[in-house]
Amino acid sequence: MKYVAVVCPKCGRASGARFDAKRHQCPYCGAVFQLNDASIIAMGNAKAVREAVARYNSGEFRQL
Ligand SMILES: [Zn+2]
Repeated sequence: MKYVAVVCPKCGRASGARFDAKRHQCPYCGAVFQLNDASIIAMGNAKAVREAVARYNSGEFRQL
């Protein structure tokens, strides 16, 4: 199973989703968005995506 780490366009936090999912609901703000519309920051197995999400949400990837 392949996963992606996506950034919510509404609240800007990352979360993991299945690679083959079309839509994803943000666990933080509840927004539902298309994976096509969101920035994907990582792709891979569940562990890699979980780590990418944790890193992103801790601020290391943030550029602003
Ligand atoms: Zn959100």
